Amino acid sequence: MTANLLDFDLEGLAAFCEQLGEKRFRAVQLFRWIHQKGASRFEEMTDLARSLRQKLPAVCHITDLPVLSRQDSADGTIKWLFDVGGGNAVETVFIPEEDRGTLCISSQAGCAVGCRFCSTGHQGFSRNLTTGEIVAQLWHAEHFLRNHQGKTARVITNVVMMGMGEPLQNYSALVPALRVMLDDHGYGLSRRRVTVSTSGVVPMMDRLAKDCPVALAVSLHAPNDALRDSLVPLNRKYPIAELLDACLRYLPAAPRDFITFEYCMLEGVNDQPEHAQQLLALVKGHGARGVPCKINLIPFNPFPDSGLKCSPRAVVLRFGHILNEGGLVTTVRKTRGDDIDAACGQLAGDVLDRTNAAQRLAQRRTVVEQPIQFHPSARERQT
Ligand code: SAH
Ligand code: SF4
Repeated sequence: MTANLLDFDLEGLAAFCEQLGEKRFRAVQLFRWIHQKGASRFEEMTDLARSLRQKLPAVCHITDLPVLSRQDSADGTIKWLFDVGGGNAVETVFIPEEDRGTLCISSQAGCAVGCRFCSTGHQGFSRNLTTGEIVAQLWHAEHFLRNHQGKTARVITNVVMMGMGEPLQNYSALVPALRVMLDDHGYGLSRRRVTVSTSGVVPMMDRLAKDCPVALAVSLHAPNDALRDSLVPLNRKYPIAELLDACLRYLPAAPRDFITFEYCMLEGVNDQPEHAQQLLALVKGHGARGVPCKINLIPFNPFPDSGLKCSPRAVVLRFGHILNEGGLVTTVRKTRGDDIDAACGQLAGDVLDRTNAAQRLAQRRTVVEQPIQFHPSARERQT
């Protein structure tokens, strides 16, 4: 089997080229052709020596993920379902906003963490994606969007590792993929604009700080261990105090001076005023000066058999208001791509024979960060 060049960060590609007796600058040229120009055929790479162009196809290839479906929302959100073989599919979502374009990328087929409110978690774990499969989601989306929109410049400005899977449980594939995103010869994304979201794999948070510090989002979802144990089973291994310590250790290396805490609003479970008060006390009281953070409230997207409901809007706002009043910058994510979610039912039907994952994925919704107007004074106090 020959190598897929999407599997390599620049260092990996340089090592591969060295094996072929090629100098490093050839690797840079190849890397730029692949990631900056979206080339998938060596004959396109006109500034590579003809002899190299001729020898590459025998030893390597540039292979994208097969697309099972693409859905375009009226609000501009685009969702791809990629086939990763063995009856598994993963989802990638592009969310355009006025000042940025965000791509939400998957890191695993399924997930082993098994959070109660997550359809991916209910589905169980199939396998880790390779670096090439993580990178292919960006490669495909970026070059599709450029072609589609007739643009030569970058369309995707932000990446969030918030699709399927726990990125920090696929660490060895994740880090080279992040490096491709950040590399000036690759996608050239700023570290502040690449976010890894984790349910709290503490040792890997420490490693990420050393190996490839990017923006960090931590899925907290509960203000105490008893409740978090029941929602995020990984909490039994890495309880909240250890998780917050890891956040504090991460911050000095981080490109942003705060951690984003995600908090999925579940009716009657974690959405009461006392939970908000506990959350305030928790993050402000941890360590000597608290954990510098922002809170992202995520309205729960229901799916069959979850046994959970989304908190009513008024309850979400009340919760956010308490946090803001307490001095924590809090945003509520706005649901995007509603219409393609509606059409998702059909999508699931189409691919049902091929993949159970597709059906479950289709029930997930796309959300983006959207500040809501709380008390302006609360914001000012925080900053
Ligand atoms: N495994 C990582 C990243 C992928 S999940 C993590 O858990 O952080 C990305 C985000 O989607 C997480 O914050 C998770 O809480 C949220 N999420 C999962 N299922 C959801 C649902 N049904 N409704 C709303 N948000 C959900
Ligand atoms: Fe896995 Fe994240 Fe879903 Fe939890 S919320 S099951 S960690 S993907």
